[in-house]
Amino acid sequence: MTRSTKDSHRSPLPVAVVGAGPVGLVAAAHLLARGETPLILEAGEAVGASIREWGHVRLFSPWKHLTEPVSRRMLEAHGWTHPPGESLPTGWELVRDFLEPLANLPSLAPHLHLGQRVVGITRQGFDKVRTAGRQAAPFELVVRTREGGIQRHRARAVLDASGTWTTPNPVGAGGLPAEGEEEFRDHLRYGIPDIRGAERARYAGLRTLVVGSGHSAFHSVLELSRLGEDAPGSEVIWAVRGTEPGGMFGGGGRDALPARGRLGEGLRALVTEGSVRLVTGFRVARIEGSGDRLQVVAECGTRLDPVDQIIVNTGFRPDLRILRELRIDLDPWLEAPAKLAPLIDPNLHSCGSVPPHGYDTLGHPEQDVFVLGMKSYGRAPTFLVLTGFEQVRSVVRGLTGDLEGARRVELVLPETGVCSSDFLAGTWAPDGVRDGTPDGGADRGPAAVPAAIPATAPRPPTGSACCG
Ligand SMILES: Cc1cc2nc3c(=O)[nH]c(=O)nc-3n(C[C@H](O)[C@H](O)[C@H](O)COP(=O)(O)OP(=O)(O)OC[C@H]3O[C@@H](n4cnc5c(N)ncnc54)[C@H](O)[C@@H]3O)c2cc1C
Repeated sequence: MTRSTKDSHRSPLPVAVVGAGPVGLVAAAHLLARGETPLILEAGEAVGASIREWGHVRLFSPWKHLTEPVSRRMLEAHGWTHPPGESLPTGWELVRDFLEPLANLPSLAPHLHLGQRVVGITRQGFDKVRTAGRQAAPFELVVRTREGGIQRHRARAVLDASGTWTTPNPVGAGGLPAEGEEEFRDHLRYGIPDIRGAERARYAGLRTLVVGSGHSAFHSVLELSRLGEDAPGSEVIWAVRGTEPGGMFGGGGRDALPARGRLGEGLRALVTEGSVRLVTGFRVARIEGSGDRLQVVAECGTRLDPVDQIIVNTGFRPDLRILRELRIDLDPWLEAPAKLAPLIDPNLHSCGSVPPHGYDTLGHPEQDVFVLGMKSYGRAPTFLVLTGFEQVRSVVRGLTGDLEGARRVELVLPETGVCSSDFLAGTWAPDGVRDGTPDGGADRGPAAVPAAIPATAPRPPTGSACCG
């Protein structure tokens, strides 16, 4: 198969961008800057729809790591000023002060289609099996509109930046829903609840179990603990799958993103002083009713004290259904583009020092289709939006015939301060790292076994191990 990018970039068809999160919108800006027409299809009723769902959470990246040069230039030409570089926005502030202004630019706004959920992508007239003539056929994106109708759009290339937020992992340790997970769904909250704000009534004065060991779990546990200060009777139990909690708390003072380091440090203190009950080695198998409470049972039969609510912070996985009719090459367990997966496998890369990558690494047998942003990391948990911006820069260069520009590396990533000697879920890990292995955590060969946790790692006195 020959690559036709050089010719196809003169096609009158737009480049479809699925998702108007930071990566999708920045992709649109780059396409415009290179003379292309973007077709941005966003399922939500506003840009940054996924971020709005965790808008109350403060990011650990400062503003200087959350914007990028091409969109900055476009915004500044319309009088926008960059927020203070060192300050940390909440999700809502990121949307208000960067994504919305970008989406409202006169050059970008006409290309943005809200309330349009992409439900399938194919080569027009060519199912996945047919080869002859395939390359010349445009892409066809099938979209469900907010009114429930179906629309079809044609495009010369597809950038899938639809994220992973809408497909959280289940609480079941085996990656499938635990027994009872569906039945007691009303008591389970996936994502990051606004515990001391809009959802306070759901947790105040009650006992909540948090499952997971990434930064979303950190956030939930810290917020529940703060809730306990002014809502008597609020309790938190924190269950993690691993048996050695020490390394979970990240790189602390060595983290190049101090806010990320502080999050882990704050939690370590709460666990050590005993105000948070940490249960290690707990692999959720079953949820049972216990009066009007729930009892959570581990694979080994151990039962936790009954709880009222469960917050599931076990990570996210990409929704691959829309890519089904395309020839996509994904890693079998990370579900990331095959060439990218070895670079981001948390079994191998503990420092967050993922090499910058783009057009060459993110390609598939299906030419001119790219999965970008959070979704490109599949089940790997270390994604930083800066990485996504570099992916966009390189891919758009490649798509517009500038292979030299595509291969130039223009990114330096902040370090996590967590390296192989104290490897665990220390990098940005919303929830996907469960105690040192990515969700579903098979090893990638002998080098993949995480190094031992340092002997100095504190064992929290309040932690009660389950069955290992
Ligand atoms: C709580 C939290 C805190 C984070 N903090 C940081 C941080 O401090 N620093 C950092 O670098 N990274 C952080 N991240 C990681 C990452 O940078 C963000 O998740 C970022 O939002 C990813 O951007 P994205 O554009 O790839 O995906 P998203 O922001 O998830 O955007 C995807 C968009 O696609 C839309 N969509 C989904 N499916 C479809 C469909 N089928 N059709 C059309 N549209 C669709 C969604 O509605 C959404 O608007 C954080 C993540 C979380 C969850």
